[in-house]
Amino acid sequence: MVRTPADNARSAFDALERLYSDADEAVRRLAAIHGARLACRPGCGQCCVDGMTVFAIEAANISRRHAPLLSGAEPHAAGACAFLDEVGRCRIYDDRPYVCRTQGLPLRWTEERGDGAVVELRDICPLNDGGIPVEELPSGECWTIGPFEERLALADIAFGGGRRVPLRSLFGTRKSGEE
Ligand code: SF4
Repeated sequence: MVRTPADNARSAFDALERLYSDADEAVRRLAAIHGARLACRPGCGQCCVDGMTVFAIEAANISRRHAPLLSGAEPHAAGACAFLDEVGRCRIYDDRPYVCRTQGLPLRWTEERGDGAVVELRDICPLNDGGIPVEELPSGECWTIGPFEERLALADIAFGGGRRVPLRSLFGTRKSGEE
């Protein structure tokens, strides 16, 4: 049976939903470990910066699920993410992009330096920097940047994406693939 573009889009959206579900489960495990140091709460919005871009598949997912918001509401004023509301809450929380789901956790990733050496780097939101220094945490107690990003890139390829979309640009538009 020949697969249509609509079939491919559905499969890609299914893969995205599974990725979000798996990421949320992994985030819950880490949040339970780090609960005492996490200042993250509804209305914070410190990590909801302006100018974020997402893969085309995530942009299309937001568009198909939030058409009334995107066509009928105003974006947040410049200086913060367009999807924040007036009290600092995300208006698309259940469908927020992958990157938004891991904010606030201790992060770890590797980089190759100019001399070929691979080094591990770590970071955490300054608001969550109390307690054990992130450099001293076991690897398994940090969010490893890489595996989920790979899955997301593959889902975007399956979707036919291949470009980054500014979140703010979604307002006032209705994208293909919306329900
Ligand atoms: S999409 Fe939602 S969670 Fe992500 S940066 Fe914007 S307001 Fe924050």
